[in-house]
Amino acid sequence: MSVTGLPPYDDTNIFARILRGEIPCKRVHEDAHALAFHDINPQTPVHVLVIPKGRYVSMADFAATATEAEIAGFWRAVGKVARDLGLEDGGYRVLTNMGVDGGQEVPHFHVHIFGGRRVGRMVPRAEG
Ligand code: AMP
Repeated sequence: MSVTGLPPYDDTNIFARILRGEIPCKRVHEDAHALAFHDINPQTPVHVLVIPKGRYVSMADFAATATEAEIAGFWRAVGKVARDLGLEDGGYRVLTNMGVDGGQEVPHFHVHIFGGRRVGRMVPRAEG
């Protein structure tokens, strides 16, 4: 286990493969620090993922170990992508899932941008 409670970074995860160009994505933005692409299973009319280019397992890993330039570059990319997608006027949600309780499926840090409709308040009530 890494310091973040997740296994160490796995270079075979799907987003690592997208970053290496081994599998395609519907790219909306790319710069030195971030890649943004449409989610393959969109939950809202606009559902885009933004990922850092570095090998970070999760939000916790990124926050603890990324450089300030990577953190600034990543979050500026998130804001730019949402703006360029035309979401600022209507609003949008940025969400990251971290670890087991957060429901994280892909072990490469990413944020979801949801927009294009009212996305409701916060999270569903607890399951089970
Ligand atoms: P999470 O539960 O936060 O780890 O979300 C992972 C997200 O990645 C899900 O919304 C998936 O639909 C999405 N996803 C998985 N594989 C791909 C892919 N090849 N291209 C785009 N999105 C993907």
